[in-house]
Amino acid sequence: MTTQNKSNFLLLVALPLILTALCTSFASMKMLNGISNAVDRQEAQRSWQAVNSAFTSTNQQIAAIAADNARWDDAVEKTDGNVDQEWTNETWGVGSSDVNYDTAFVVSPTGKVLIGYQRGQIASIEPSSYYGGALRRLLSETPTDGSTFKVVHTLAWATDGLVAVAAAPITPTTESIRRGRRFSNRLILSRSIGDAELATMGRQYIINRLAVHPLNNPSPDAKYIYDSWGSPLATVSWLAQNPGDAARSTYVSLAIGSVIALMLVLLPISVVHAKTIKRLQSNERSAQDAAGRDVLSGLPNRLKLNETLRQHIESSKGQQVSLLLIDLDGFKVVNDAYDHETGDRLIRAVSAGLNVLMGGRAFLARLGGDEFAILISGENVRPQSEQIAVQVLAFLREPFDIAGRVAAIGGSIGISDSPAELIDPNELMRRADIAMYDAKTRGGNRYRHFSTALDTRRNENLEISAELRDHIKSSSIGVAYQPIVHAQSHQVISVEALARWPQKSHRIITPDRFISVAEEFGLIGELCKVLLRKACSDMKDTKNLQLCINVSPLQISDPRFVNDLLGILDKCSFPHNQLEIEITEGVLAKNPSRAKKVVRELQLAGIAVALDDFGAGYASIGYLREFRFNKVKLDRTLTQAIEKDVSIQKIVQGTVLVASGLAAAIVAEGVETAEQARLMYLAGCNQLQGYYFGKPESDLSKLLVGTAPHLVAQN
Ligand code: C2E
Ligand code: CA
Ligand code: CA
Repeated sequence: MTTQNKSNFLLLVALPLILTALCTSFASMKMLNGISNAVDRQEAQRSWQAVNSAFTSTNQQIAAIAADNARWDDAVEKTDGNVDQEWTNETWGVGSSDVNYDTAFVVSPTGKVLIGYQRGQIASIEPSSYYGGALRRLLSETPTDGSTFKVVHTLAWATDGLVAVAAAPITPTTESIRRGRRFSNRLILSRSIGDAELATMGRQYIINRLAVHPLNNPSPDAKYIYDSWGSPLATVSWLAQNPGDAARSTYVSLAIGSVIALMLVLLPISVVHAKTIKRLQSNERSAQDAAGRDVLSGLPNRLKLNETLRQHIESSKGQQVSLLLIDLDGFKVVNDAYDHETGDRLIRAVSAGLNVLMGGRAFLARLGGDEFAILISGENVRPQSEQIAVQVLAFLREPFDIAGRVAAIGGSIGISDSPAELIDPNELMRRADIAMYDAKTRGGNRYRHFSTALDTRRNENLEISAELRDHIKSSSIGVAYQPIVHAQSHQVISVEALARWPQKSHRIITPDRFISVAEEFGLIGELCKVLLRKACSDMKDTKNLQLCINVSPLQISDPRFVNDLLGILDKCSFPHNQLEIEITEGVLAKNPSRAKKVVRELQLAGIAVALDDFGAGYASIGYLREFRFNKVKLDRTLTQAIEKDVSIQKIVQGTVLVASGLAAAIVAEGVETAEQARLMYLAGCNQLQGYYFGKPESDLSKLLVGTAPHLVAQN
């Protein structure tokens, strides 16, 4: 190349190219900076929203607990005139040593403190000095007229720091007690939001180092929290995460590197050539990227997951891969209850939360609908995948605040891990799916690892479901009746109809097993109908006997449930008041508004509703107060524990005491001995059921003869 040519080349090709490269780098750096800042701003907004939701939800919790404790006939009676201190000790004294609240006061309409507790002890402080000015506002807004019920709640600055406090008038729920009452005492409950509480809130809402600072020593960026009347209470601080920073620093080094490289290797043809190829490649990559992203959440999609999985498997020789498949519990309920926009927002909130939670340590993708996947690889992935599963479940368990609507969901996670070279991506996915299904059928809100036993079980379930479908079609599902007797006279009052696998089948399947298969494969509604028709026909001549039928939580979600049920009763001319529906607590927790509607519709139609297996799960007295059940069935674990020691007797007696104030009848299930029958009767149960009185029996007449002469079938 001559000197002339060289300078021509420099002037015409190299210089413009270098300038273009510099300008392009500068422009894209600016653009990236803009995007990174926007990402940081979004994250700052998310964390501020999370902080607000954390405080709001703590505040709402205390309000709900106060409402629960104040609308209570017993509470009215025990604080009227002279306070029954034995009762208040047992109720709010014990309650204040629990996690829900740490301080409780009962205040008369004139503001006199009738009794107070703090952390399990009689309170040594006055509410006015403890809550300061907040008390006056709380009390002035809490009605005292004896009939109006309203909960007033706020965050407040107490002598020991920030607290969530709620006040409510102690009001009867029964109309006859309410009538004529002209005053009500007030109940104040509060929970201190100290370091431990803040740490829990931080974990639940993924906020690092959440802290509260008094007004006289505010946090540097002074983010205020306010009481319910708009006065500032304190400032909060937390450790901000700036996801944009990582992108920025990666890009800066890349950009500098490429400019230097460009200048070094600058040769006219090859540069032009290289640039063209590069542009083509980058176009192709961005097209691929676009195809690999989920539009709603911005996360990698199923396609991208498969590709990444394949890459992991190819490149991780000697390592293990682990795939976590996450399916949201209860997403459909939210989607149906609100609108699709809310559902979309929820998916975006979950995606953003999971993204922050993973923080780059794993590959996260959205597979579509309410399904997500997490992929990790390494030497020993099992502990790591379990840790991730635990964190994801804790995150999903917290209620989401979607534009003022609270969505409570959860998650079921299936995990499959394997040495990378031994598995094909589809198989890894299939296994995670099976494990996830198992987590779901066990009630959700848990993780399960894949095992070959699960695989076998899944195949068996498929076979059982096929056979079950035939048995339902031919109405050959069996029914067994178990007597429920009067606790004192031991006469049969009702029978519970229990589904049985047909004897003619070549195998024996327990009810627990085929009922869960029926639920999993959508057959439970039809199974229940077959059972009800058979039972109605078996019992048409036994007028004085109540028939109890189990209904699965899935049926409660079916909008046709009540109609179909009434249709069958009418067709069989079976009196509505002879039927009782048993439902378990699961349904109340999952979809309370739907459950409430169904319970009310059934009761209006004259059908009694019983709460089954009470005391087995998260037995909540709150549910009993909210739903007016005609009957509560105490789970057999309680019955079988009563013989063991006096402390359990006390727990059972306490449960019976509360339940009997809130339901018409209490049944002890699983009574196997005369002693259990005696103790449960003494504890206050009105009815008893269990092998001691009779095992489930397919021939109804056998069950009646001899046990209860007045009930023998009337021909
Ligand atoms: P469940 O509703 O709690 O029914 C009572 C179960 O306890 C029955 O088991 C009964 O045989 C058993 N049991 C009764 N007394 C005793 C006792 O003294 N000791 C012991 N150890 N067990 C006793 P089963 O028939 O195996 O039913 C299991 C569960 O399957 C039922 O529990 C119910 O949840 C479900 N199930 C049965 N039939 C139906 C149905 O038609 N529909 C629905 N949705 N669920 C059903
Ligand atoms: Ca039952
Ligand atoms: Ca039961």
